[in-house]
Amino acid sequence: MTFDKETLQTLLNLPDIAVDRVVLGERKTLKVYVHSTLEGTNCHRCGRPIDHEYGHGRELELRHLPFGDYRVVLVLRPKRYQCPFCEGRPTTSQTLSWYTQRSGLARNSGQVRA
Ligand SMILES: [Zn+2]
Repeated sequence: MTFDKETLQTLLNLPDIAVDRVVLGERKTLKVYVHSTLEGTNCHRCGRPIDHEYGHGRELELRHLPFGDYRVVLVLRPKRYQCPFCEGRPTTSQTLSWYTQRSGLARNSGQVRA
């Protein structure tokens, strides 16, 4: 069984990401390295849209539903943005619609969205 990027992108069926590479690890774990294709986020303090890039946050590992016998883990480094409006210029990590930062679980994973 081979996994090319396009097939995986289709199987994952998640918005706002592109697959960078896929690594087949131990015990049939597929690590899918992805990056966000969305630009910008909202400041966690003032809520304004911000797009001043400020590097990346820590790598997150997000569990996805398995593909057949394979366990699937998405690896993502969230983009960070700096707010030019707030005092102290706080930074905010971008969160995508399909996962929550707290649980690290991919929401709606494997489901077809209308
Ligand atoms: Zn702000």
